[in-house]
Amino acid sequence: MHEGSFARAIILSALKEAEKAGMKRVLKIRVLIGELHAVVDDFLIEVFNMMKGEYGLQEAALEIKKVPLKVKCPACGLVYRPDGPVFLCPKCGTPGGEILQGNELHILSLEGEG
Ligand SMILES: [Zn+2]
Repeated sequence: MHEGSFARAIILSALKEAEKAGMKRVLKIRVLIGELHAVVDDFLIEVFNMMKGEYGLQEAALEIKKVPLKVKCPACGLVYRPDGPVFLCPKCGTPGGEILQGNELHILSLEGEG
């Protein structure tokens, strides 16, 4: 289950961040997730809500911020947003390319009380 492993990864890094910040109660977790990960937001939140109690995060709400995928064509340099899993430049038809953004998966911020 894709979303399950994401939920766990988010929870574990949130716990680490909270510990670093000396935060005892986490109320909100904002995460940045790139489109490349193809995460279903509602499903991820549902799974997160099912798991959070086990980790002492029962009060935490998950907020997801999505980053659109952007790829740079290696041939003509066009930056475009692929509309499928296969990257194909809409201008010159060259496949592949460098991912400029959309690969993110990290905590943006935590809200809570110490
Ligand atoms: Zn191109």
